[in-house]
Amino acid sequence: MDFRLAAEQQQFRDSVSRFSQKELSAGALDRAHGPGYPWDVAKKMAKQGLLGITIAEADGGQGGTLLDAVLAIEAVAAACPRSADVIQAGNFGPIRVLAEYGSPHHKQYLKKLLSGEAVISVGMTEPEAGSAVTDLATKATRDGKGWRISGSKIFTTHSAYADLILAYVRFGPGVGGIGSVLIQKDLSGVRLGKKSKFMSGEEWAELHFDDVFVPEEMVLLGEGGFKKQIAGFNVERIGNTARSLALGRYAYEKARAWAMERKQFGRPLCEFQGIQWKFADMKVKLDAGQLLLYRAAANADRGMPSAEETSIAKAFCNQAGFDIASEALQVRGGMGYSQ
Ligand SMILES: Cc1cc2nc3c(=O)[nH]c(=O)nc-3n(C[C@H](O)[C@H](O)[C@H](O)COP(=O)(O)OP(=O)(O)OC[C@H]3O[C@@H](n4cnc5c(N)ncnc54)[C@H](O)[C@@H]3O)c2cc1C
Repeated sequence: MDFRLAAEQQQFRDSVSRFSQKELSAGALDRAHGPGYPWDVAKKMAKQGLLGITIAEADGGQGGTLLDAVLAIEAVAAACPRSADVIQAGNFGPIRVLAEYGSPHHKQYLKKLLSGEAVISVGMTEPEAGSAVTDLATKATRDGKGWRISGSKIFTTHSAYADLILAYVRFGPGVGGIGSVLIQKDLSGVRLGKKSKFMSGEEWAELHFDDVFVPEEMVLLGEGGFKKQIAGFNVERIGNTARSLALGRYAYEKARAWAMERKQFGRPLCEFQGIQWKFADMKVKLDAGQLLLYRAAANADRGMPSAEETSIAKAFCNQAGFDIASEALQVRGGMGYSQ
């Protein structure tokens, strides 16, 4: 067992750090609160080879590892947390599903996604199917050489501006009746409903499919596909895990810099033991989370993606990121509660 990164991983992380500090740190706060997608960042990342890190070179990706993608998220988030979402969109979630299960016809969409010109959404959640996602009711009905899709999706990340939606639909009853289709946003019958914002300020819109015709070749996984696809979530959790922890690290570093600069009672805050305890607790969580994350990613790269390891890492790092951000706010005092 060796807890150090290999020389080439270290070099990769250093090069992404240099790129991020130079290109992304300016404007990080504006991006964090912006409603739209940072397309300028996406294009820069495409040029830098940061989209499709884990996608095969034959499909236009970089042929790298999951751990490489995690290192990229960490390095980018250290300069601009919102930009790490772009790495997520270009490496995890629906883009990976498309690359993994797609036919050559489906994979033609990868080109625009990997060049940072377009983004793909995944529509699973519906008004009546949240945690109970297998209750989803969006229906696919046979129509000649294709399917008619009817139903609504909510909370779909990137829905306000994505060109393409990977929609989970029901071909038949039960879990076995669920599969997925690729739906272009400009098709007749696709309608954006009410817009809303996540807490970050990022916009999403209700998606309505009113009898949308989807040709057979746009079915990604037909009946029975849900079970196959859900196994892929062992890997998808890793990206989310990395972002949560990276956000915690960003908050930690900001609070640390502040504690060394801000003076009260004639001394910098960092000299008070009560503040030092906070940083000790934060650092323990950051290190523990990083070990869980690297274990999950490294084992998945060795062909052992584990539901248990990725879930433990995700549960821990999501909570750690939240706790650390909250403590960092406290260290910043009134500043922590101001924009
Ligand atoms: C930032 C963000 C981005 C998202 N992006 C996407 C996306 O791109 N695509 C997509 O399809 N969806 C997306 N979602 C939706 C997300 O997957 C759902 O919010 C999630 O599945 C929960 O569903 P719900 O919000 O309807 O909550 P509910 O299912 O209504 O749950 C409400 C509360 O009840 C609890 N609860 C539910 N069932 C049980 C139970 N059996 N026992 C105990 N407690 C229970 C839940 O834990 C939760 O605390 C996103 C959500 C967020 C917040």
